Amino acid sequence: MSRVVSKSLSLLQSGRRSLHVSAVSAAKQTMPDPIEHATGLEKYELLAKQAGNDDPFFLKACARGPGTKAEPTIVNAMDTYRSVGCVCNEEDTNIKWMWLCEGAPKRCACGYWFELKVHAAPDKYSLPL
Ligand SMILES: [Zn+2]
Repeated sequence: MSRVVSKSLSLLQSGRRSLHVSAVSAAKQTMPDPIEHATGLEKYELLAKQAGNDDPFFLKACARGPGTKAEPTIVNAMDTYRSVGCVCNEEDTNIKWMWLCEGAPKRCACGYWFELKVHAAPDKYSLPL
């Protein structure tokens, strides 16, 4: 009988352990803004997006323009060359890749002309911290 009582007491004692929680309210605490943590190119990109430019490195696909030799499709780049993929026909399941160099407009096999437009890349020694 006494053994049974002591066991139930030990269960009660272990059940009395309480979880200590500080009374600090989490209402005023928020996660920091990613821009505050970012540095370098990441911060450059986040600041550009904040300023309204959601594609500062020209990574999004663009539609072909007229594509004639007089009015070639302009491909933006941050160097003097860039690899360009042309989806020649809408129903194509492959992309025709080619290199495009500054000052040398190029014609894809489908007949569309492309020309590279070089933009200044961010200076790696003056990136935002
Ligand atoms: Zn093509």
